[in-house]
Parts: sequence; structure tokens; C-alpha cells
Amino acid sequence: MRILITGGAGFIGSHLCDLLLAQGHEVIAMDNLITGSERNIAHVRDRAAFRFVLHDVVEPIEVPGPLDAVIHLASLPSPVDYLEMPIKTLKVGALGTHNALGLAKAKGARFVLASTSEVYGDPLVHPQPETYWGNVNPVGPRGVYDESKRFAEAMTMAYHRAHGLETRIARIFNTYGPRMRLNDGRVVPNFVRQALRGEPLTVYDDGSRTRSFCYVSDLVDGLHRLLLSDEVLPVNLGNPHELTVLEFARRVVAVAGSPSPITCITPSDGLRTRDDPQTRQPDITKARQVLGWEPRVPLDEGLAKTIAWFRDQV
Ligand code: NAD
Ligand code: UDP
Repeated sequence: MRILITGGAGFIGSHLCDLLLAQGHEVIAMDNLITGSERNIAHVRDRAAFRFVLHDVVEPIEVPGPLDAVIHLASLPSPVDYLEMPIKTLKVGALGTHNALGLAKAKGARFVLASTSEVYGDPLVHPQPETYWGNVNPVGPRGVYDESKRFAEAMTMAYHRAHGLETRIARIFNTYGPRMRLNDGRVVPNFVRQALRGEPLTVYDDGSRTRSFCYVSDLVDGLHRLLLSDEVLPVNLGNPHELTVLEFARRVVAVAGSPSPITCITPSDGLRTRDDPQTRQPDITKARQVLGWEPRVPLDEGLAKTIAWFRDQV
């Protein structure tokens, strides 16, 4: 297949490039590098089957030649980034998704949307199955990201229903691994960086909120299976191993062999934790059934690989 990946120079996008190239596909990575980096794709830049295109997908997208699939990952998923760039976040979710869908339609290509567990907001159902409609505050600070993805899902289904476009929707839960940005503000880079520098780990509030972390190789395997599947309605992709943020901090310190203390702090910027989901755990029954997929990499193993990579950066 000849596949376009928007956001292809980002964390997940660059790992997906690696997987699809290894499967023998031709890959075009498109990115405006707002949070991504050419370093993430430097190792494949010279491959004949790979091309990088610098482009903002909020502007109309033109790609010469045929395309079999468009995988739309371009977005600003880190809370720190979307709180700083709320309008860009809404635009890439709305206009960027519209442009990527339009391109897929023009090329007769299959379309895969990278959606998110944030469509469930601060969930009132636990764990979260795909049938849950969510609990999102549209006018809260996180609303810019959550609603951009909810709109993107609605737009994707509209293209499927109105134009018969072959579409897929992945609801991705917290994913971690090498090539996350050291300063992207998400909990994994923050804790790993702090542990490697011997600084206190900054657990927000009392650390009782929960998350479930999926290693990136598992996640991109799930995305690849979804691309090849027949499932049109959303599919959760994530690791059901749930733990509190405080427990997660303890795991990072232990796996890194770090002397860092763990501190509970209230971020001075109140926006950072407003509407912060109290719990999050994927129900992956559907992914098991329709994709034959489930995560394989245990947390300590994924953390060890991630910490080894970050050690070089730090
Ligand atoms: P990332 O920030 O590393 O990647 C996003 C990429 O999109 C970056 O390379 C960025 O430069 C690019 N981008 C942003 N706006 C763009 C624009 N207007 N035009 C072109 N490129 C643009 O983040 P990631 O964690 O790799 O996330 C990838 C996708 O997965 C996103 O759609 C995100 O919403 C989704 N997701 C990620 C997670 C996670 O835990 N990592 C969880 C849920 C969903
Ligand atoms: N968090 C934390 N300390 C940090 C960064 C994040 O305690 O230095 C918490 C945050 O409040 C949230 C969880 O860790 O409850 C996951 O945050 P992240 O920014 O990684 O993404 P989210 O899952 O909220 O989208």
C-alpha cells in the first residue's frame, strides 16, 4: 500500500512509519513539526519507500499519485500543548480532519482517525467501553482537545455515511515509549526526566487519579490491525493495566533505580488539572474480538526501554 501518515514525525506517527515500512508499504509522513521532530524519522529519511512532506494539514492537502490509506494522527495531544495552543488544537481536529478526509475521498483511500480516550472525558462508567458516550465539559480548558476529537469522529462517520468512504476510528488510551518529547508535559516524560535527574517527581494533587499505560509497539500493532480490519465504529486501543498516578511514580523510580523523592503538589496553573479525568481504563473486549489484539508489553518492561532512551536525551 501507499500510505500517508499525518503527524508522521510525532511520537506515535514515527513508530507507525517504522512498522509500515517494515511491512513493505510505501510511507509518506506529513507534518508541520509543531510538536514533532525530524529526528524521529532521521533513521528512515534515506529509504526509497519513505518520504517526508513539511505541511500544515489545516491548509488543503495535495499529494501527487495514488494513495491506498490516509492515517490521520496530526493533533496536539499533550495537555500542556493544547492548553497553550487551544485554537490550533481545534483547527487541526476540525479543519485538518476535514482536509485529510477530503484527500482520502479524492484518492479512494481508506481513512484511519487517531481519536482518543478523552472523548469519554471524566468518565462516569468504568472501565470505558466504546458504547459509552462520555462526560466532557465543552467549555472547560480540556474541551478544546476533547471536542476537536469528538468532532473529528463525527466528521469521519459523516464521510462514511454520506460518501461511502472506508473509515476506521481508533480511540487511543495513554501511550508511552521512546521519542516522546522530553518536555511535552505529559506524565511519562515528566516523571522519567525527573527520575533521571534525581529531582522530585511532581505528582499532582494526591496522586489518586488513575491511568492505564500502553507501550507504543503494542499501540502501533493495534493501529495496523485496525487499518486492515472491516470495523467502522470506534475501537479502544490501550492497555487495561490501571494504576494510580502515585503508584505509577513509584514504578518509574523503581525501574530507573532513582534516588528521587516523590512529592504531591498542586500545580500553580489551575487549568492544568481542571476537569482532569479521575479514572481511565480501556475496556478492550472489542479490540480482542475484532482485531485479535491485546497489549503484550508489561509496564516494567516498557518503562525500562523508555527510560533507557530518555537517559541518552537527558
Ligand atoms: P505528538 O505530538 O508526538 O504527534 C502529533 C504530531 O502531529 C506532531 O508531529 C505534530 O508536529 C503534528 N501536527 C500537529 N498539528 C499539525 C498540523 N496542523 N499539521 C501537520 N502536522 C501537525 O503526539 P502523539 O502522542 O504521537 O499523538 C499522535 C496521535 O495519537 C494524536 O492524534 C493524538 O491525539 C493521538 N493520541 C495519542 C495518545 C498518547 O498517549 N500518546 C493518546 C490518545 C490519542
Ligand atoms: N500528572 C502528574 N504529574 C505530572 C504530569 C501529569 O501528576 O508531572 C498527572 C495528571 O494530572 C493526570 C495524569 O498524570 O492525572 C496523566 O496526565 P498526562 O498529562 O500524561 O495526560 P492525560 O492522561 O491527562 O491526558
